Amino acid sequence: MSTASSTFLRRSADAAPNDPPHVDKPTPLVGGAGRLLIVDDIRENREILRRRFERHGFHAIEASGGVEALALLERASFDLVLLDMMMPDLSGLQVLERIREQHSPGLLPVIMVTAKSQSEDVVDALRRGANDYITKPVDFSIALARVTTQLDRKRAEEKIQQMNAELARANEVLESRVAARTQDLVHSNELLRSEIEQREKSQAISVHLAHHDALTGIGNRLLLHKQLGEALVHRQRQGGQLAVLFIDLDGFKTINDTLGHGTGDSLLKHLASRLKNSLREGDKLGRLGGDEFAVIQFGQEQPKEATALATRLIQLIGAPFSVDGHDLVIGASIGIAVAEGNYQDSTQLLRAADLAMYRAKADGRGRFRVFDPQLDRLAQERRGLETALRNAIDQGALEIHYQPFANLESGRISGFEALCRWNDPQRGFVPPSSFIPLAEEIGLIDLIGNWILQRACADAANWPEDITVAVNVSSAQLKSGQLFGAVEAALAASGLRPSRLELEVTESIFIQSSDANCALLSRLGELGVRISLDDFGTGYSSLSYLRSFNFSKIKIDRSFINDLSTSESSAAIVRAVCGLARSFGATTTAEGVETTDQLAHIRAEGCTDMQGYFLSRPLPVGEIPALLERMLPVSV
Ligand code: C2E
Ligand code: MG
Ligand code: MG
Repeated sequence: MSTASSTFLRRSADAAPNDPPHVDKPTPLVGGAGRLLIVDDIRENREILRRRFERHGFHAIEASGGVEALALLERASFDLVLLDMMMPDLSGLQVLERIREQHSPGLLPVIMVTAKSQSEDVVDALRRGANDYITKPVDFSIALARVTTQLDRKRAEEKIQQMNAELARANEVLESRVAARTQDLVHSNELLRSEIEQREKSQAISVHLAHHDALTGIGNRLLLHKQLGEALVHRQRQGGQLAVLFIDLDGFKTINDTLGHGTGDSLLKHLASRLKNSLREGDKLGRLGGDEFAVIQFGQEQPKEATALATRLIQLIGAPFSVDGHDLVIGASIGIAVAEGNYQDSTQLLRAADLAMYRAKADGRGRFRVFDPQLDRLAQERRGLETALRNAIDQGALEIHYQPFANLESGRISGFEALCRWNDPQRGFVPPSSFIPLAEEIGLIDLIGNWILQRACADAANWPEDITVAVNVSSAQLKSGQLFGAVEAALAASGLRPSRLELEVTESIFIQSSDANCALLSRLGELGVRISLDDFGTGYSSLSYLRSFNFSKIKIDRSFINDLSTSESSAAIVRAVCGLARSFGATTTAEGVETTDQLAHIRAEGCTDMQGYFLSRPLPVGEIPALLERMLPVSV
């Protein structure tokens, strides 16, 4: 073995003493052009070739036979084998076969060296994996060309393998990244899906909550509107008739106030389930809020079917409820509206049913009413009036006119009654009999009443000391609990002596909370204010009222005065009232005296005072001084 080859072998063994014999691993071509293994049993042949290849920059190692060659291949790596075909120990073909068991032609090319006569063997060798052959005697330039070609090919093969390996590695990295990313995506997909599910669930819950009443579990106003809208569309397409029943409980507030909201709530729950169980399939029930419910009813003959249902529901609701240990009885008023004419949308229809329900309440509760468009017109008028009245108050468009009353004995004016006037730019003169009840209903009566008290006291403070002012006070003002303070404030602000103020109340104050009203009137009496009973004989007349409070004055309603000459009973009543009043120390004023005849009659029946057009119509405040001057003393 040459020095060069032993150095190479040593170096190789040093570099990796324990390396396993590697199979077909691409080996980088070190030592210039490549490492050759020259196998030949004839020494000169080997040496010549080795030297010549070394001169061309190759590392070449010699093997003297097949066995040695195989051993060398086990221990070190080569780039190419030049293999003699004919050798004594192992033939070139045998060696080739063994080599090919471990090394592919691409990575360890084998070039057979043959005699020219061995062409059959050459074919055999090529079939068994030899890459090429050269013939003996070797033409070195051919050998070099063939070796170089094979080595170039090997390099290319190695390059390809290397690139393939890199590609495989890159692929692996890519695949693992894709796998990781896929995993990520799967994970975030799962998250997203559960989030969506969660969101859908909570959306479903909030849709349910938005459409259902939390207390009773039935549909709420929103759902009912929706269902009504759908029902109306359905009706238009399919025909049939549709009615809405607006149910409002009678006396629910009392139950709430006396037994507490807990019991009230339980009652509503019981009621809702009672209603639900009593309806036909397809009819819809909803709670509009508070103690208001509504039913949408389909039918063939409306409002007949709706009135039948309303009758049944009123009975059903009227049956006692056993709630929290109480046996509760409650009533209901029902308004019915049928979809027809102008009432074809859910808002209109519900409003119409609501109006009809109000009518049922006004007619005495515990009954139903079917909507009549006339009702709607009245309600609209009322709303218009309400807006105008609010504006009138804001803009100071209310006025007071004063109507005098006189003592029959002295013939002198003893005071003036303050009468509210509203002259609306659009409506003209609106009588107090229509706007005072409206103001009571919509909660404006205190505002108006207090203003009148202030104004009347301030005006009266400018009149002579013996002239009083009478102010009408509605029972709603007594109920609101602020009348006493308002009277005190008006007196204080004007400096008017309390005895110069009279408050006129009607018999209606005895209908509700009569004890509380009498107590309030007594306190006002203690202030020094006088209390008169107005319009006596109308409405709830009863002589017993005269005993229940110590009135200073009884004003006999103008209807009696009107009838005095024609009706014996009117004359008898006037006489009885005057007698009774006298016995209590009260005066009696005849209202609405228009004629001398009436004047003569009231005098004859024992009235002490009079008021009416005969004396004067109500006048603006500016005309009072002149009136007092002109009429002193009045000849009555
Ligand atoms: P009232 O307290 O009985 O007032 C008397 C009403 O009779 C007044 O009508 C007056 O103008 C009218 N009258 C007086 N003399 C005659 C007459 O000889 N013939 C006829 N036909 N009528 C006469 P008015 O001003 O329309 O008031 C009606 C009612 O409105 C009052 O009845 C009173 O109950 C109420 N009212 C008026 N002003 C006020 C007010 O400021 N506050 C309250 N709460 N109610 C008021
Ligand atoms: Mg009056
Ligand atoms: Mg009156």
